[in-house]
Amino acid sequence: MAEKSLVERDQAIIWHPYTQMQNAAAPIPIVRGEGVFLYAEDGTKYLDAISSWWVNIHGHSHPYIAKKVSEQLSRLEHVIFAGFTHPGAVELAERLINILPKNQAKVFYSDNGSTAVEVALKMCFQFWTNQGIEKPKVLAFHNSYHGDTFGAMAVSARSAFTKPFDKFFFEVEFIDLPNHDNIEQLKNHISTIKSGISAFIFEPLVQGAGGMQMYEAHYLDQLIKHCRHENILTIADEVMTGFGRTGKLFASDHLTEKADLMCFSKGITGGTMALGVTTCTRDIYEAFLSDDKLKTLFHGHSFTANPIACASALASMDLLLEPETEQNLHRIESKHKDFATKIASHKKVKCIRQTGTILAIEWDTTGETSYFNGLRDTLYNFFLDQGIILRPLGNIIYIMPPYCMKNEDLDYTYAKIEEALERF
Ligand SMILES: *Cc1c(COP(=O)(O)O)cnc(C)c1O
Repeated sequence: MAEKSLVERDQAIIWHPYTQMQNAAAPIPIVRGEGVFLYAEDGTKYLDAISSWWVNIHGHSHPYIAKKVSEQLSRLEHVIFAGFTHPGAVELAERLINILPKNQAKVFYSDNGSTAVEVALKMCFQFWTNQGIEKPKVLAFHNSYHGDTFGAMAVSARSAFTKPFDKFFFEVEFIDLPNHDNIEQLKNHISTIKSGISAFIFEPLVQGAGGMQMYEAHYLDQLIKHCRHENILTIADEVMTGFGRTGKLFASDHLTEKADLMCFSKGITGGTMALGVTTCTRDIYEAFLSDDKLKTLFHGHSFTANPIACASALASMDLLLEPETEQNLHRIESKHKDFATKIASHKKVKCIRQTGTILAIEWDTTGETSYFNGLRDTLYNFFLDQGIILRPLGNIIYIMPPYCMKNEDLDYTYAKIEEALERF
């Protein structure tokens, strides 16, 4: 009897994320990764233009990260992080604090982006309740995405994805992204609703899952400053933007005003291991110091500060801080810019936007709304057929490459996008 294929075995037993299993296309079985390429079981090679769900920054199976992880594996694989510590966690915290905005003082580990956000929200709510102040609400942007656990979902835009759970969320005030026309109005609005608001959470400069919506640092600076004035804590969710994506190490490096808390995951380990980090100011940390045990932050995960995850984060940071990586960021940024200029006036391009290494192209679908849903699948399959993994968000396609993607691979991707613009 013929052995079952990997795909058949998968389909017999696995439930995939964000997938309607009833009519999902068969998953592509990937057996190997090297640099910007992923290799399928049948030998097909895919250019990973979305960094494997935005996590990979130095290419797949990077030999340096592999070596460091392997060394760590035979030294210490895991240790409980309550009451214990280990060298990797300490070194990573020290090196992170060293490259983060100066106001960040303390590092709290968890194990993914959503938990990094949960921790930040809990820190903010409890920062106030530890002082006897009730502020049960959060301020967030329309169109935001902060993760899939309940707190993270609550501060994310209400959408088809959150609909079955909407009734369970705590109260959130949503505001528009700031711009020249609405900034004063937004500030006034915040002042009128400020009571009861613990924190303002935002994705700095780029809203990822919301369709790579981008906005200017200058206006975010004004909102952060205004929130500080109104006693609202600020949380920069850098889960996607962190570690080079926006052309600087952190999107917050484009800002003059700094958030009180920051959230990281995705690129932090170079995309090798699951790790979450929430950092905060000394003020926030000190609001939890007390003889009263009830003022403790009661939060932790089994794999908090896992040594393997810390080892991959340290190795990834070594690579990130190499001059060559910075050159790559600039190189990709300027390649994107040239391509954006080239296609900006194409009739199918409704909007093209770029921040650092992220380039997003919005397809003009006016008058073709019935076509809209199909377009996403058409584009996704077209690029797969060309050996490129690009995963459109509706009518928006974006390139978010590992920083080692070569010019020829970028050029190939651009050429296929141009071809798609002509065809669909
Ligand atoms: C992906 C993402 C998250 C959630 O991270 P997970 O590791 O997928 O839970 C949170 N915030 C932002 C901005 C993200 O892009």
